[in-house]
Amino acid sequence: MNERATLKINEKGHLEIGGMDAVEIAEKFGTPVYVFDEAHIRNMMRAYRDVIDNDYDGFGLVLYASKAFSCKAIYSIANQESIGVDVVSGGELYTAVKAGFPTEKIYMHGNNKLVSELEFALDCKVGTIVVDSYREADILDKLCKERNLKQNVLIRINPGVEAHTHAFVQTARTDSKFGFSVSDGSAEDIIKYVLSKKNLVLEGYHCHIGSQIFEKQSFVLAANKVLDFASDIKNKLGFELTKLNMGGGFGIWYNDEDPKLKPEDHADYLKTLIAAIKNKIKEHNLKKPYLLIEPGRSIVGEAGITLYSVGAVKDIAGIKKYVAVDGGMFENPRYALYQSKYTVMLANRATEECTEKVSVAGKCCESGDLIAVDVPLPKAESGDIMAVLSTGAYNYSMASNYNRNFIPPAILVENGKADYIIKPQTFEDIVRNDVTPDRLK
Ligand SMILES: *Cc1c(COP(=O)(O)O)cnc(C)c1O
Repeated sequence: MNERATLKINEKGHLEIGGMDAVEIAEKFGTPVYVFDEAHIRNMMRAYRDVIDNDYDGFGLVLYASKAFSCKAIYSIANQESIGVDVVSGGELYTAVKAGFPTEKIYMHGNNKLVSELEFALDCKVGTIVVDSYREADILDKLCKERNLKQNVLIRINPGVEAHTHAFVQTARTDSKFGFSVSDGSAEDIIKYVLSKKNLVLEGYHCHIGSQIFEKQSFVLAANKVLDFASDIKNKLGFELTKLNMGGGFGIWYNDEDPKLKPEDHADYLKTLIAAIKNKIKEHNLKKPYLLIEPGRSIVGEAGITLYSVGAVKDIAGIKKYVAVDGGMFENPRYALYQSKYTVMLANRATEECTEKVSVAGKCCESGDLIAVDVPLPKAESGDIMAVLSTGAYNYSMASNYNRNFIPPAILVENGKADYIIKPQTFEDIVRNDVTPDRLK
């Protein structure tokens, strides 16, 4: 377990989060339930914000990458912490707007933004749109012309650095659906194109090199490549960037194969990145660009846990033991999608020694419906409360109603208080949009 102030084992031997006993949370709110630790979320937002304030004269903005976990409450927290957000769809934008988030601090991403999404973004005066195709540049310019306005844009580029966890590679060309490569001239071409659009105001570049990254040098390499390129473009086209968005991707602890980072260690990633940027802009004599970073996973990931009730336990003697819970791939598809690893514990028996290795199965009609495979656990019994840690990012946001299961509610805990931030679904919600045409009646 990644010990920190608000996630610990209490004197009853129960897991505690945000000053609340996880077993009591399960009793009060039912299971499965996503539980978010507000203090942890705020600490992470502040850790990054403070680095921009202290090491970069406050000349930048932390954007919470809201695809990691999007609901009204998280935008309210981001707003209270004076940071911005990025959104990747009309739905995320709508949620932010409904939460009263200041739209000038919203950045909009997407490799295939819908015309309706671009219209919506313009209607709500989204601060910056990150252009990722010629088609988008055409549509956006036309929509702006019709509305008689100019839109600030960045262009998504590929600096030829791809990173994940403990490794990064330099690639001449990427096969990514995102961005334009700096190495083959395609980034330069779209820059020229966007500069020719009268209603688009190009401010600079965006890149995002990967996710769950622990290798600081990958960010340094990416920043160096982007700024070398920016200097080239300045010399060739006379365009100098005023904004630099380095994306997200900072890694978090899921299990003991991952380092356990504190907020100040995460802050170090940003410090290292800023040091590299300062060096490069000096080398190329560039003006200091306004800096943006987009952490998602590292802000909410470790802040969240999921609580389940243990149901059936099935021991296939000598082969495998399954402990089934009342959730599954409908509320956490990450094992099914990526064979992601998690740390699992019994919240009501948190001090007991792990005596066996089990696989945690969901309740979906699908054999690949697993939450974790071969994880150590005390001998679990029906009725135990299971906690899966580090589920705050890309769990709720990827959930579905597969098998017409309910997407679990989410609660926010702070100082011993818990509130719903996403209410439980009901059977009525499940059939809400179903229609039976008369001829089928
Ligand atoms: C996914 C994504 C992020 C956030 O990545 P994390 O790994 O969650 O920090 C930031 N920016 C862009 C463009 C993304 O696609």
